[in-house]
Amino acid sequence: MNSHTQQLLIEAEQRCRQSGRQWTSQRADVLSVLADCRGPVTAYELLDAIKAVHPNPKPATVYRALEFFMELGLVHKLDSANRFVLCSHQHEHHHRAQFLICDSCGHVDEVPVPGNLLKLLESEADKLGFTMADKGLEIHGKCRDCTKQH
Ligand SMILES: [Zn+2]
Ligand SMILES: [Zn+2]
Repeated sequence: MNSHTQQLLIEAEQRCRQSGRQWTSQRADVLSVLADCRGPVTAYELLDAIKAVHPNPKPATVYRALEFFMELGLVHKLDSANRFVLCSHQHEHHHRAQFLICDSCGHVDEVPVPGNLLKLLESEADKLGFTMADKGLEIHGKCRDCTKQH
C-alpha cells in the first residue's frame, strides 16, 4: 500500500465516521484495492484483485462495500462502461460526477462541470417535460496520449 492509498483510507474512515457509518476492515480492503488498481475496473476485476488480500472474497460483500463508498461519494460508477472508479476530487456535494472516458485505453478523467451548465441542461430537459434522475455525464472519446499516437 503506498502513501497515497494510506492517506485515502484515513480520509475515507473520517468521512465514514462523520456520517455515522461503520468502518470495517472489509470496506477498507475494498477501497485500498480499488485505489491500487489506478483506473476504472469492473466489479469482476476488482473481485479478482481482492483475492490477493483475501483468498475467498464474497462478491456480495464487495458489491455492498462499493455501494457504501458510492453513497459516501468516494467511488463512482461509470454506467456506460460498467466500471467503478475512485473519486478524484473532494466531492462532498454530489453523488454523481462527470467523466471523460477514453475508448482506446480506458483512461478516465473526472472533470468538474460548472453548475450553470447542469442547470442549462436541466432547463432544456424541463422544456421537454423530462425529469432528470441522474446528472452524471459520461463523455466518450480519445485521451491525449491515444490521440498523439495517430
Ligand atoms: Zn467525484
Ligand atoms: Zn487513451
